[in-house]
Amino acid sequence: MTDRSFEVGPIRPPSEANSLLLQVARGCTWNKCKFCVVYRGDKFHMHQPDELKRTIDNMAYFRDMIASYVRTDGTLDREGLTLELGKLTQSELECFYMVYRWLSNGGTSVFLQDGNTVALKADKLADVLFYLREKFPQIERITTYGRAESIARHSLEELKLLRQSGLNRIHSGFETGSDNVLKLINKGLTQAQQIDAGVKAKEAGIELSVYFMPGIGGVEYSDENARETAHVINQISPDFVRFRTFVLKYDSEMVDLLRNGLFEECTDIQKLREIRNLIADVTAPDVTIVSDHIINLIGSLGGRIGTDKEKMLAQADRVLNLPPEEQRLYQLARRHGFIEDYPQLASIPQPRLLHLRGAAEKYYAADQWEAHLNNILRNYV
Ligand code: SF4
Repeated sequence: MTDRSFEVGPIRPPSEANSLLLQVARGCTWNKCKFCVVYRGDKFHMHQPDELKRTIDNMAYFRDMIASYVRTDGTLDREGLTLELGKLTQSELECFYMVYRWLSNGGTSVFLQDGNTVALKADKLADVLFYLREKFPQIERITTYGRAESIARHSLEELKLLRQSGLNRIHSGFETGSDNVLKLINKGLTQAQQIDAGVKAKEAGIELSVYFMPGIGGVEYSDENARETAHVINQISPDFVRFRTFVLKYDSEMVDLLRNGLFEECTDIQKLREIRNLIADVTAPDVTIVSDHIINLIGSLGGRIGTDKEKMLAQADRVLNLPPEEQRLYQLARRHGFIEDYPQLASIPQPRLLHLRGAAEKYYAADQWEAHLNNILRNYV
């Protein structure tokens, strides 16, 4: 019997929670960033267009299977479908449910995995995307991860072809705009490549969502990280700038930098100050700032630079200027995921607030305090 299962990669952006996941490649072409452990030990493999078309056929097979159990009045014959599902293997079942959930959520968006799918030749990737849209004509949005140097390697014409084939948005982890920090973390990129990639992608009509890591340059490069990152943003004017505040992972190579005295971690508050300084330096009006991850100290910090910049700066300043005890209380409440911004502290029930205050006082020494916060944060990354 034909095996209808297909591979699914480990990660996707939170904004793609309802997307169908099509694994174009396994792993990452670079796989050497010092902070990253996602694909450690995995060998990069690019699926060939024929394999990808087979995966798309399998997705369509599950779609058709569901459709064949929809009665003329639009209801689902669950009993019949359940009997049919009994013939599938465990991995086929998992794939079936992915397609089922995707269709239940509208079935209009697709995310191409893994770390760097734009490394595939543009004509090959475009061929697959045309095929995907032929099989699923209701698809409105196709997005993917892509490293800046791979985007930059494509000509403008090639990027336009990708856009025509349906690629709407590239999510790209720039992490920092500073060449010094890019070198420190072994990102394998330069600021010039980032700008080239970003400008070209936008010119081709592809939306760009770039990710930056406040704190990734440590104390030494904190100001430079904010300033140079803002410079890159201003040159490109990406559609979205997403923050992923740096958290030190013990199994990453950043630990070696720390041990060798080449990296001193910023405090939680210094990282927020970096975010604040970065926003202050961004002037491109159409950029939208997004803080859609629990590791950012203010979860609701976001908006369009052209209209919301002052509001965002005030939001950051409010936390930065809190009296020390109140600031710690906020940090702890946020780090435990109870709230998104300081005003919400008032909505926390008194007994819980008292508990948080007691916990905050327990870690009196600054280094203990940071270690405690980082221990909480490591649960999220
Ligand atoms: S490019 Fe992305 S996926 Fe690849 S090693 Fe760096 S952070 Fe990890």
